[in-house]
Amino acid sequence: MKLQLYNSLNRRKEEFVPILKQQVGLYTCGPTVYNFAHIGNLRTYIFEDILKRVLLYNGYRVTHIMNITDVGHLTGDRDMGEDKMEKGSQREGKTAWEVAEFYTRAFKNDIKQLNIIEPDTWVKATDTIEDQIALIKTLQDKGYTYQTADGIYFDTSRFKDYTKLSHQDLESLQEGARVEKNPEKRNATDFALWKFSPADVRRQMEWDSPWGTGFPGWHIECSAMSMKYLGDQLDIHCGGTDHIDVHHTNEIAQSEAATGNNFFNYWMHGAFLIIAGGKKMAKSEDNFLTLENAFLKKDINPLVYRFAAFQTHYRKPMEYSDESVRAARNGLVHLHNQVRQVTQNGAGQNGSVDETFKARFIETINDDLNMPRAMAVVQEMLKSDIRDGDKFATILDYDRVLGLSLDQVDKPEALPEAVQKLVDARQAARIAKDWAKSDQLRDVIQDMGYSVQDTKDGMKVIKI
Ligand code: AMP
Ligand code: ZN
Repeated sequence: MKLQLYNSLNRRKEEFVPILKQQVGLYTCGPTVYNFAHIGNLRTYIFEDILKRVLLYNGYRVTHIMNITDVGHLTGDRDMGEDKMEKGSQREGKTAWEVAEFYTRAFKNDIKQLNIIEPDTWVKATDTIEDQIALIKTLQDKGYTYQTADGIYFDTSRFKDYTKLSHQDLESLQEGARVEKNPEKRNATDFALWKFSPADVRRQMEWDSPWGTGFPGWHIECSAMSMKYLGDQLDIHCGGTDHIDVHHTNEIAQSEAATGNNFFNYWMHGAFLIIAGGKKMAKSEDNFLTLENAFLKKDINPLVYRFAAFQTHYRKPMEYSDESVRAARNGLVHLHNQVRQVTQNGAGQNGSVDETFKARFIETINDDLNMPRAMAVVQEMLKSDIRDGDKFATILDYDRVLGLSLDQVDKPEALPEAVQKLVDARQAARIAKDWAKSDQLRDVIQDMGYSVQDTKDGMKVIKI
């Protein structure tokens, strides 16, 4: 089955056809590095990782660019408020540069723990200031800009397809934009391309420009970088759904105004992670959970979160709760046990990928990355009567998309002392044939995040 993706631009699933035959240009909007990423942000990066892996699984080569927003993103998405980086700097008593460095590293660590494949190129906004200035100059030469007391703005009324991504009528977009008042803007939806440094304060991050000292607006970085690093291969651009009305709408307007060409053919957006009651997880709310405090500190394998994300289609809101984490954890333990079983039974068999089950898997992932259905196929395959060696070969093939490190499930690792003690006690109980005690200890060990399996070679304990 050919790959079908939901394109926000046309609001329907479409067959994916890249500009070049086998090569795909992918741009994913990256983090604003003034704080840790929360697990809502990380849900979006998991969706984008699945997209990339599905493209690779389909045989495409992928050039993937991700930006690091380390300047210019203000607390209000529409050019009002403080620069988030300067705010982070005040909060932590470090320079904005140090804050950016620290949270960039933390972000890279998070995505590594989630088995998210790194982009081919990371680009910091502060490393492309000249490209951004050049793009703003082009827009100025073409008559799309005007100057106010605080910056250079893009005149959205001059770009006729301004609502092509949001599909809102202009009136309601303008209405939404009026929340942040700037009397000098000609239209409420106009946005800053360049902002001047305030006269009385010296900003930590500022640059000279033809218009005066200042810093770029938030949206211009993604236009400048995607065109710089992908050239004409503007295939897919992604982010969370909150980017549709402002950030991506503005990226399209300024890029297409500057080049006169189409800017990206496919726009894909991941729905939010919400908490009970339907509230969106956000950095500005107290419902902010990081991978560190929700998983690592509780000694829960971060891949449990990746597995949890597969249970909801990326275009549907995903509800997060202790209960959903518990269910995902059990689900992953079960999957590991199944894989371990087929590895043992199939050991020595020269397995090969089962073509029927491969085709069924492709049908689900190529249907707009339908991971809940893909996980159902995984279970059908593992429970089927094909040979265990073939099951193992097939699950490893699926894992190119799942990214759950299923080739590692059989590898033992050093256990924490407390767990090792329980394991030893269980071993003693088994030697004494005290099966009730052995079962009870297995449950305790499992509650501590380790799965226990009795094999002909002895007890195996694996972290989950
Ligand atoms: P930011 O670091 O705030 O620029 O956001 C990084 C990415 O996370 C963007 O693609 C956002 O659209 C996305 N995002 C923000 N909040 C959520 C959420 N609650 N659930 C899923 N994605 C989100
Ligand atoms: Zn962006």
